[in-house]
Amino acid sequence: MTLSLHGLGVSRGIAIGRVHIIERDRLDIPEYHIGKDQVETETRRLLEAVTLAKQQLRAIREHIPAATSPGIAPFIDTHLLMLDDAVLTQEPLRLIRTSGHNAEWALKLQRDALVHVFDEMEDAYLRTRKNDIDHVVNRIQRILLRQKPLRHEEPDSRLSGYILIADDLAPADTVLMQYHGIVAFVTEYGGPTSHTAILARSLVIPAIVGLHEAARFAREDDLVIVDGNAGVMLVDPDEHSLRYYRRQQQEDRKYYAGLIRLKETPAKTLDGVPVELQANVELPQDFEIVRQVGASGVGLYRTEFLYMNRDTPPEEEEHYETYLSVLDTMAGLPLTIRTMDLGADKQVDGGRQEGPIQSNPALGLRAVRLGLKEPELFRPQLRAILRASAHGKVRLMIPMLSNMQETWQVLEILDELKAELDGQRVEFDGNLSVGAMVEVPAAAVCADIFAEQLDFLSIGTNDLIQYTMAIDRVNDEVSYLYEPLHPAVLRLIRTTLEAGARADIPVAMCGEMAGDSKFTQLLLGLGLREFSVHPAYLLEVKKIILESDLRRLMSIADAALQARTAAEVEKILARLETT
Ligand code: PEP
Ligand code: MG
Repeated sequence: MTLSLHGLGVSRGIAIGRVHIIERDRLDIPEYHIGKDQVETETRRLLEAVTLAKQQLRAIREHIPAATSPGIAPFIDTHLLMLDDAVLTQEPLRLIRTSGHNAEWALKLQRDALVHVFDEMEDAYLRTRKNDIDHVVNRIQRILLRQKPLRHEEPDSRLSGYILIADDLAPADTVLMQYHGIVAFVTEYGGPTSHTAILARSLVIPAIVGLHEAARFAREDDLVIVDGNAGVMLVDPDEHSLRYYRRQQQEDRKYYAGLIRLKETPAKTLDGVPVELQANVELPQDFEIVRQVGASGVGLYRTEFLYMNRDTPPEEEEHYETYLSVLDTMAGLPLTIRTMDLGADKQVDGGRQEGPIQSNPALGLRAVRLGLKEPELFRPQLRAILRASAHGKVRLMIPMLSNMQETWQVLEILDELKAELDGQRVEFDGNLSVGAMVEVPAAAVCADIFAEQLDFLSIGTNDLIQYTMAIDRVNDEVSYLYEPLHPAVLRLIRTTLEAGARADIPVAMCGEMAGDSKFTQLLLGLGLREFSVHPAYLLEVKKIILESDLRRLMSIADAALQARTAAEVEKILARLETT
């Protein structure tokens, strides 16, 4: 009998294949006591397991296929750093020495103690760090238990065509999926903007997260269908479902193959209004694809990745060299460099001291707040962006501004740096455009004030929705409230667009909402004329733009703004499909 299970579809597409279940949390940990004469051997056994775990992770890191998104390696590095942390091993070593526990049990006790601390805090962000502890501890436990590595880590193609089901997936697991030909994955936990979801989208494989008890209903080698669009997994599908989804797969393939033909077509609506279609990029290596899909520039270059997984923050020269090489790849296309947005779910490990744990990191010292507090992180980047502006079309964008004091402070620093560069006879673009991300509701409400002082705005819907709805981006328990169509979100978008129009400055959108073709027509109707999206979604958004009649969309957008709920907005948008 076909079983239909529902979760959150986070990476679209359809996959049909047999199941491989990763039973990460079902290790049988033995408990026994050792004699005094075995203490040395047991401590050595634990330390050797930790060393081997590190070697395994390094090997996985080295095997990252070239075609894989470069954003993946930093996640593996996080686990490597945890393996280096004494907190994980010091207490188990003490327990082996003082209580005579075996290594596995001593490690389990420490794992439980650490997880308990996180549980007590009841903080969604820290809960995601709890998962990291489990990933790392389980790797060590497997070595101690002399179990074979997980089947999906073996460097062969036996899992080609398989669909992975796991409680949660570590970055190291996710990276290997492409390597082994895994065609989709389903996890029991995780939110739509969790690391796992983001990685799935960059690997372009269908994925569902938050499908609770998936591994209870599907068994190893069962045939399943994963519909990443609807977030549905069908276990043991009947002939009728198989036929339907196979046809769907073929149609999808044809559709995406057809899209590439639109690469050179100018993005404009049926009634001739031009629309800017730019790309979001995270790492210097990703810039090649920007040209491949015919983006008119980069509307969001997330630079925080330059600061990650290293002992010291990047110096001015490194920033400068990186931006120069990116400009080189862009060959004349405009580049919007966002200053570092470290903090919250993007760890700060670029040489900073460990600070106190923030109980609400998304509301804490993040992005421009951190930059202004720690100028040694921020000023070298600003100087490098100024210098790079002499060599191409560069714009500078500041994340997370929430008031004008912060804006003035950044502008003042820029003036100081310009004077400094002038004094040193170093070239820069004296008219460098400086803009703000509108991602805090306060900035959207006061967009007119920001627009007076800045050259452009860009709406960051990922955070704007998070802060408007008061939900954590990475917590699957509240992901049902992540509603881009909530009237409050739409009104903030409209307010920002109107403020930009009145001040005669461009307003872009670079959050995930801009790349979701379901929303393209509504955004056009609301007045958006600059989209910055993941390159994989750019041509699909272009296709919708080419089919859109703006005059009609404006009245649809006006109606959406009067709606009381996201569901009502959806109904209004559905009218577009029926006429
Ligand atoms: C956003 O918040 O919408 C955004 C684009 O920035 P990030 O996802 O990097 O926070
Ligand atoms: Mg943001």
